[in-house]
Amino acid sequence: MKDVLIYDTTLRDGCQAENISFTLEDKIRIAEKLVELGIDYIEGGYPGSNPRDADFFKEVKKLRLRNTMIAAFGTTRKPSGKPSQDLNLRMLLEADTPVVTLVGKTWDLHVRDDLRISKKANLEIIADSIAFMKKRVDEVIFDAEHFFDGYRTNPEFAVECLKAAQEGGADWIVLCDTNGGGLPGEIRRAISAIEGVITVPLGIHCHNDGELAVANTMAAVEMGVRQVQGTVNGFGERCGNLNLCSMIPNLQLKMGKKCIELKQLKKLRDVSHIFYELANIIPDKHQPYVGDSAFAHKGGLHVSGIIKNRETYEHIDPEVVGNHQRVLVSDLAGRSNVIYKAKEYGINLAGEDHAVHEILRRIKDMESQGYEFEAAEASFELLIQEALGKKRKNFRLLGFRVIDEKRKEGDPPISEATIMVEVNGVVEHAAAMGSGPVHALDRALRKALTHFYPSLRELELLDYKVRVLSSGEGTAASVRVLIESGDKKDEWGTVGVSHNVIDASWQALVDSIDYKLYKDKKKKKKYKA
Ligand SMILES: [Zn+2]
Repeated sequence: MKDVLIYDTTLRDGCQAENISFTLEDKIRIAEKLVELGIDYIEGGYPGSNPRDADFFKEVKKLRLRNTMIAAFGTTRKPSGKPSQDLNLRMLLEADTPVVTLVGKTWDLHVRDDLRISKKANLEIIADSIAFMKKRVDEVIFDAEHFFDGYRTNPEFAVECLKAAQEGGADWIVLCDTNGGGLPGEIRRAISAIEGVITVPLGIHCHNDGELAVANTMAAVEMGVRQVQGTVNGFGERCGNLNLCSMIPNLQLKMGKKCIELKQLKKLRDVSHIFYELANIIPDKHQPYVGDSAFAHKGGLHVSGIIKNRETYEHIDPEVVGNHQRVLVSDLAGRSNVIYKAKEYGINLAGEDHAVHEILRRIKDMESQGYEFEAAEASFELLIQEALGKKRKNFRLLGFRVIDEKRKEGDPPISEATIMVEVNGVVEHAAAMGSGPVHALDRALRKALTHFYPSLRELELLDYKVRVLSSGEGTAASVRVLIESGDKKDEWGTVGVSHNVIDASWQALVDSIDYKLYKDKKKKKKYKA
């Protein structure tokens, strides 16, 4: 038996967010993921509002939904006319879902200024729309729009509206903080005031305009509310909806309220990331529970603590929500960070005091020049190899030249690079064109080396970032280049810093190639063992 039921509205309220638009295929994939996560209700959309939502309700029937129920969302009937003649209610029925959620007005201001009808007429609309729907679908949920704002200005009327929904036969009454400005204390007071008056099970639907959606929802659950509405990653209009990726672990792990299975909770991070991908939004690193930085440790003291006992600096075991612990390399690094990090690469530095000391010295020195290893772990791994005296020199540069040329106004510039390298005493000379100087240099370098190292053909440059570093007093500005490379199996980051952008790029390119060759050799060794 679940203590709290989760109602996801990513496909309806979540799609109100600026920059978010899902295709029908996206929406089906999202529904599949929500089923895997063990969500109780999926609000699929507003069938009256657009044809894509109507198509979704057709397609979603083909999914194996296990215990998840699909809900269609719409408004109570129009003030003029009967429920049976209402186009919107008819379209909701056509969606053919076991659950229908009807949203209705509970704030007298909206009834007076927006609908421009009497309060009594509003109560009739709520009661007869719900009664009409309840005769035709299994479950009817009433979303009490602006309930907390309504309760603030006219509590009697706001509660009358809930009573009308109860009399109409609603299975759930969901209290909505539609403008997202409520406070936990207000939420508690309003819920305690309707105790005994409203006997239908209650739900809560919060927006995040005061950054309080999670706090407000928790307050409501403490007051006995049993349905929680929100969206994955908090996607939604303005500042977003309640973030289910924070709320579910809070309910389950902190409040002891059972809502999904523990094995489903392990999928939380994956679900969060897939949703970002489908929405084409870069995931928020610092997002609680599921972000990349949620369990990342930088300070030396913290790292030496977590090595001894994880609980010293982590509020939960990251694996429980499918996340993992990370230790960052940085100038705050102490010995324990370096040893821990090296262990991740399969290098045991315990007892190698001299090497650890040397690595720390270099990191501090390089970071003061502007190097950053957090996104360039491959460069860091090479640095460890170098400190251990194990780094292999794959080639020697005898010189390169890069030329940029623009022949005519309006024509794109052309870049050309020539390079000379020496590998095991053999001198190789190569030239290549590129869409920019770094591209040309990368192509020329690889052309020169592929003959000696054929696996470099698999190497691909995936991303290239340049950051101008603020110049200290009396020194010229320098740039930091971060390169993301990959082959069929892995992806890795490398870094270079210089006053000259080509030179900084060169360093990052060379590290990328050295890392690829080092990695290939490491793999071969593993297979032999
Ligand atoms: Zn909403």
